[in-house]
Amino acid sequence: MLIKLSGGRIFDPAQNLHGEQRDLFIQDGRLANDPGPDAKFDAVYDLAGQIVMAGAVDIHSHIAGGNVNTARLLLPEQHRNHMARRLNQPFSTAKWSTTDIGYRYARMGYTTVVEPAMLPINALDVHLQMADIPILDTAALAILGNDDLLLRLMRDKASQSQINDYVAWTLNATRALGLKVINAGGANAFKSNLRQFDLDDIVPDYGVSSREILQTLQTAACQLGVPHPVHVHCNNLGIPGNIETIVATMEAAQGLTMHLAHVQFYAYGNEGAKGFSSAAARLLDAFNRHPNITMDVGQVLFGQTVTISGDVIAQYSRHGDASPNKWVMWDAECEGSGGVVPYRYREASFVNTLQWAIGLELFLLAEAPERLFFTTDHPNGAPFTAYPELIRLLMDADYRQACMARLNQEALALTLLPELKREFTLSEISTMTRSAAARLLGLHDRGHLAPGAIADIAVYKPQADYRAMFADAALVFKNGRLVVKDGEVIARPTGNAQTIQPHFDPRIEGDIQNHFDRFYSLKLNNFKIDDVAFSDADSQRFRNVDVIQPAN
Ligand SMILES: [Zn+2]
Repeated sequence: MLIKLSGGRIFDPAQNLHGEQRDLFIQDGRLANDPGPDAKFDAVYDLAGQIVMAGAVDIHSHIAGGNVNTARLLLPEQHRNHMARRLNQPFSTAKWSTTDIGYRYARMGYTTVVEPAMLPINALDVHLQMADIPILDTAALAILGNDDLLLRLMRDKASQSQINDYVAWTLNATRALGLKVINAGGANAFKSNLRQFDLDDIVPDYGVSSREILQTLQTAACQLGVPHPVHVHCNNLGIPGNIETIVATMEAAQGLTMHLAHVQFYAYGNEGAKGFSSAAARLLDAFNRHPNITMDVGQVLFGQTVTISGDVIAQYSRHGDASPNKWVMWDAECEGSGGVVPYRYREASFVNTLQWAIGLELFLLAEAPERLFFTTDHPNGAPFTAYPELIRLLMDADYRQACMARLNQEALALTLLPELKREFTLSEISTMTRSAAARLLGLHDRGHLAPGAIADIAVYKPQADYRAMFADAALVFKNGRLVVKDGEVIARPTGNAQTIQPHFDPRIEGDIQNHFDRFYSLKLNNFKIDDVAFSDADSQRFRNVDVIQPAN
């Protein structure tokens, strides 16, 4: 199958292309060199004047797993699908059916999405849900840091290499792409009735601090050669003054790579009459001094959503704000906890306006878009379906000003946002959502349009309204197959799972077996994922698993 995409304006920062006109060639699902004048094409698309980017990559979006299903169950009224569609609400859990997740991402030009919070005990559920999401390649990050076995190993002064074996075994057993740490030790401390947990607080009964857990897991990820840096949800999420925590966490990284998730929720000072202020400039100042750190924003956008997180301390602390007024907190085996709290971000609210403005300050003041990533922490800051709105806010200063007129003016006055005139370019959007995102995950076969890359391609018709432009791609190709045309899904191929299989000493399995036999209600064999999890129920076809090589 040989396809030509003729004359589009290419935005591919990885190849230093910023709108130059080029032809692209697809052969058997991958980008290819020009096959020469005698080539016979199976299809030719005339893209003159249209904007062409690689398929977008979302590094942090909660699309599968226990919390996602719990949110679906908690909010059945949001499932009135036809109603929600007619009202064109950006939020509805009905739109999170696995089919809808695949379709809505694909329509925006996304082709790879990472679920960043897979509790190992839930791994099978996560993979079954992801296998049911059409079109997208997916991956998940395995959560460690509140699990009884790790904390026992640390309490018993296990060597770093023993811990590396446990981490590597977990990544293999759960078919993960990387490692996630959520409020290290905090969910475990919650069980001992601690309701706040800082970087140097000690987990009761284990005698290890949050900092030690974090550094141990970070070291493991680095030594195992996991390309994606340890993905960290810091302590003290959402608390005024938590800028101190995130800056201290950057310093705790000791110059090694670390990714800090949804940092908008940590760029909070405690100044002003309400004791809540923007610390975006301070966060960026620290970020500039730490080139080993990457961050994603976790932008807040207004409207109904539901917050879901493994950070049970943060979720419990906000349950009083649940809207509608119902919530779930849970705990699973010996591994971790989490909570689901519906929430509505309101334009008139001082706090919500400040959160919205801080996220935009972070984007607009940042000097390094290749280290700063585009997320809403779906669904915590906003559902992923609001991405086109966020792109318009970043690319269109007049639109931003018009939006600010409707918001809480007292909050805006505490930020630099009204003075910021920067407008993101298409190249900067492409860097954040494509080239840098794929590189951060170690997925070198995507995020760019060089020959050899998989042919994941998004084509947009230029429009003055960037929101409309990015909401409905003109064409989207997945592995060279046309899946979206004029904003409509026309094919639903099965995506691949992206995984890593770092080496471990098999003797660790004996320790893990003993631990399961003593403390778990589940057998170890039920926990590990075999190929059944990757079968496609409709076609009986196995879902492919791509294995990324460790860096050492
Ligand atoms: Zn998240």
